Amino acid sequence: MRLQGKVVLITGSGSGIGKSTALLFAAEGASVIVNDLDEAKGNETVGEIKEKGGEAFFIRADVTDPASVEAMVNEALGQYGQIDVLFNNAGISGVGMLHEIEPDAWDKVMSINIRGVYMASKYVLPHMMERKAGNIINMSSCIAEIGLARRASYSATKGAVLALTKSMQVDYAPYNIRVNALLPGTILTPFVEKYLKESYDDPEAAIAAIKTRQLSGELGRPEDVAQAALFLASDESKFMMGSPLYIDGGVVFG
Ligand code: NAD
Repeated sequence: MRLQGKVVLITGSGSGIGKSTALLFAAEGASVIVNDLDEAKGNETVGEIKEKGGEAFFIRADVTDPASVEAMVNEALGQYGQIDVLFNNAGISGVGMLHEIEPDAWDKVMSINIRGVYMASKYVLPHMMERKAGNIINMSSCIAEIGLARRASYSATKGAVLALTKSMQVDYAPYNIRVNALLPGTILTPFVEKYLKESYDDPEAAIAAIKTRQLSGELGRPEDVAQAALFLASDESKFMMGSPLYIDGGVVFG
């Protein structure tokens, strides 16, 4: 068991990659704090973990809201007494060329995808600093490093997450806190299904086009990213600090 005795907080773990990671971490011995905005989905994740004999509980919180995040962190600490790993996973899609995006839509993507990372980290870090131990995993995307059409707001947030990861690592290394980033390619989750429906008349044709852009010839699965998150959360990656970890099936321009 690679996470025996560890307490892990995963934002947005009612669905997709976060949910898959919560299930894997619990199977590896972690106590998992499942966070999501969506209560039903969060409770489903907890239910599945418990069915398999794992330990988890759900806290509804909006990662953009300071009061909500502070209350979540206090409740988590009240329940388990410590947070060893924070996985800043919650995020939403954003579609469109820059000039097409309305200010409210721009702000919403910025708020969840980058303010959310700042907010959860802000309230967990003092606890990790006090313990002189901690591990933060930030969800970026391969889009931070490659240009993809009609993803202006989304790519801006994921580039920001990658830059923030490096800056955080420099600041918190003296406290024995590691901060790394995941950069997935296209992973078939509800998030991607929604993006494809919003963006293309023929989502199946779009999936076929995305596959041709990947050396693997296939889209990724949430489990593929969960395995990478497990590596970053475990001591096996202890020499990785401020690093981007790609799980993208070999994305190429196309
Ligand atoms: P998903 O939509 O399946 O899951 C995201 C979860 O976050 C949802 O359950 C949602 O309710 C929750 N959430 C949204 N706003 C929230 C908020 N304010 N507070 C708390 N929870 C909130 O998406 P996914 O595909 O699993 O994506 C997870 C992360 O991975 C996102 O940050 C996304 O940008 C990133 N990512 C996804 C892909 C992909 O192809 N799926 C690729 C690269 C990066």
